[in-house]
Amino acid sequence: MSKPEGFLPSRTCPVCEQTFTWKKKWSDCWHRVIYCGADCREKDSKAQGFEDHGSDGENIDAEVGAG
Ligand SMILES: [Zn+2]
Repeated sequence: MSKPEGFLPSRTCPVCEQTFTWKKKWSDCWHRVIYCGADCREKDSKAQGFEDHGSDGENIDAEVGAG
């Protein structure tokens, strides 16, 4: 049981509807991760008409195309 594969949480991106899986880089902010990547986050931000700079200085973007 060295790798907990199959037990990792996953989410569906509300923009592209792709499922993305928990990554170690998100261990501290998984509850804040919504989109699969920066592109989708920007698309949704623009769609809702709010700016998303100066949040907490955290980069919680996924790597687009990973997987
Ligand atoms: Zn997406």
